[in-house]
Amino acid sequence: MAIIPLMKQVHEKIRKWYKKHGRKELPWRNTADPYPIYLSEIMLQQTQVNTVLERYYFPFLKKFPTFEALGKAPLDDVMKMWEGLGYYNRAKNLHRTAALLCQKEKQTQENSTTLPSDINALMELPGIGINTAHAIAAFAFRQSVPVMEANVKRILCRLHKLTTPTDKILWELAYSHLDKKHSFDYNQAMMDIGATLCTPKNPHCTQCPLSALCLGKEEPTRYPTKKKRVVPKKEQHIMLTVYDDKLALSQRTGKFLHGLWGFPSTEVPLCASEYLGEVSHAYTHFKLLCKVWIYYETDSTQEHYFTVEEIRKLAISKVDEKIVKLYLDTIQHNTEGGFQYGG
Ligand code: SF4
Repeated sequence: MAIIPLMKQVHEKIRKWYKKHGRKELPWRNTADPYPIYLSEIMLQQTQVNTVLERYYFPFLKKFPTFEALGKAPLDDVMKMWEGLGYYNRAKNLHRTAALLCQKEKQTQENSTTLPSDINALMELPGIGINTAHAIAAFAFRQSVPVMEANVKRILCRLHKLTTPTDKILWELAYSHLDKKHSFDYNQAMMDIGATLCTPKNPHCTQCPLSALCLGKEEPTRYPTKKKRVVPKKEQHIMLTVYDDKLALSQRTGKFLHGLWGFPSTEVPLCASEYLGEVSHAYTHFKLLCKVWIYYETDSTQEHYFTVEEIRKLAISKVDEKIVKLYLDTIQHNTEGGFQYGG
């Protein structure tokens, strides 16, 4: 069979499949407003759909319903709404992008604050790379361009038996396969097929609308080659400084966990400190083990001290949450045992 008619047939099968099985109810697929579509794209970059839907997407939109509301909000408030979602640079970049758009609106006296529709202009905004720019163009501005995310990449690799393709090759294939007339449904369908049929393990090739085109369906899990990941381990000493029943925290300024409040790490714990215990946390790129030490001050030497209640209102990382829990558990244990910690 000639390649063009085959591609047409496959496009038709994909459309039918999407009509029947597609996750059409997802809220960001039922709006024409670029803001929630952009927000969903950023949230979904490193996070499962269910987590985003159940815990983050709606509360964030309620708190910051527009680009203006987000751009004018204090960064602390944005970080608080992002708490627990991880990859905090995403929140920082969302905030920066919204602020830039507000600024541009003021300068040009445009009527509404929104994203540019051009892919290159989108890529000039903080935190928007080529994949996100294509997704925004495709879903928010209904342009006839393909999208590329992990699920789509896996499908393309399997269709063409590619083990380690370059991004250039993948984009060329993505453009050549696109159903230009029905690009919105095609792109959503490709992501859903990757998430539900062309899964990393045990793909369901017999139910797949791309099966007629797929060169890799005999041994699909060979494509692409899985990179063996060795997750490095890092160890840190964390210092809890207590004064007047309050804990010292500072706001992080480095790239990692930027903008969140946290307990400082130290090379060597203070001689007068006591060992509290350890907590660990698995990030995507490394595993962190924190050995936690506590030091009771008689005079305040730090800039910011907070009660535990006040800390609960701050944006802090998961690992710092675990440290607060360790602190509370230890205090409770020692109080029950008749010994007041630091007393
Ligand atoms: S036929 Fe199988 S391997 Fe090929 S795209 Fe469909 S699910 Fe993936």
